[in-house]
Amino acid sequence: MQRRSFLALSLASCAQPATAQPAAGPQPSDLLGASGDPAFLAWLNSYYGRALAAGVPRQVLDRELSGLSPDPQVVVHDATQPEFARPVSDYVRGAVNSGTVEKGKARRLDVALLPKIEADYGVPADILVAIWGMESGYGAGMGGFDVVRSFATLAAETPRRQAWAEDQLNACLKIIGSGAATRAQLKGSWAGAMGQTQLLPTTFLTTAVDADGDGKPDIWGSSADALASAANLLVKGGWQKHQSWAREVVLAHHFDLMLCEGPKQIPSWWADQGVSRADGLLWREADAAAQAQLVLPCGVSGPAFLIFPNHFAIRTYNNSLAYALSVGLLADRLGGAPPLVTPWPHETPLSLADRIAAQTALGKLGFNPGIPDGAVGIGTRQALRAWQKARGLTPDGYLSPDMVAKLKAEGGAPS
Ligand code: CA
Repeated sequence: MQRRSFLALSLASCAQPATAQPAAGPQPSDLLGASGDPAFLAWLNSYYGRALAAGVPRQVLDRELSGLSPDPQVVVHDATQPEFARPVSDYVRGAVNSGTVEKGKARRLDVALLPKIEADYGVPADILVAIWGMESGYGAGMGGFDVVRSFATLAAETPRRQAWAEDQLNACLKIIGSGAATRAQLKGSWAGAMGQTQLLPTTFLTTAVDADGDGKPDIWGSSADALASAANLLVKGGWQKHQSWAREVVLAHHFDLMLCEGPKQIPSWWADQGVSRADGLLWREADAAAQAQLVLPCGVSGPAFLIFPNHFAIRTYNNSLAYALSVGLLADRLGGAPPLVTPWPHETPLSLADRIAAQTALGKLGFNPGIPDGAVGIGTRQALRAWQKARGLTPDGYLSPDMVAKLKAEGGAPS
């Protein structure tokens, strides 16, 4: 309660004119908000009550919020929007290459408990090692940000994410309060993902496990704990034991491309549509009974995949097609699989302006892609496929520079 009044004082002091007499005793600015940022202090003051109501112990709040200031680096990272979207092929090439494969094969030998973790959770070790590689370069780069400060900054600076960031901050403080980790241990990325497998604090509370038996789930210092926690997260995300995450496929000439990103059907149904495994092998029993969806991440000039429920389980980690493909393909390579039959093409990055122009043109031409925001998601791809089909083009839903130019010419750019 005492510190609550200091918080109120610190806020009030910001609103006072410079001629106000300083209070006797410790200055509020020594306790909170060394930067004196009034907006940050205003948020901190209101957050205190919400955190208490959410069950964060008062003594933890008082100790950990003292002297807190926004992290300018987090603000910069959060505001940075790349002008060009990174193509899927470029992303996957960066994640799955001889360097990452060899490093993963070496690093996995350091985790003696890996076979036990695989047996306990039913998630293949290759998948777990691939996630470890994607998230932190196999433990090499966990991020050095003070995540308490990161979430406080995000909550104060970005209203659209305030509720989410405060939930994460509450979780951080509960972790500290429970003794599961110290403030000094709570290091992570600027966006607050922590440890060797980059868990968010709320996920840590619900999902982190102690695999090495020392009594604490330590995702920073124990690779076994980090990998078992990742396995636990995938199981909660619906991981299906014995099923694949995806398989590369090839399409018959007559294949109806309007089925891309469409129905989820078993492989024999897809075979009837002209879809077969690129390696020519038979489907294993668990996959033969699983519902799969067809995706063409780079259109008809790149590889095609049937993606299984486990693909979507990987996306509970990071809801991105490129991420899930990278994890899965890295896992396949760690398990000894050869490179893809159809190689990734070299894609040309599209500017934000071009992506928005293409979406705007689709809308004007009567093919609703949703709000033209430059994010090319399934709505844009479905609209593009419909427009391509209506114009007699190959309906692969892939927004290439050529498609952008055609759309601009037909209905986009004002003359
Ligand atoms: Ca442990």
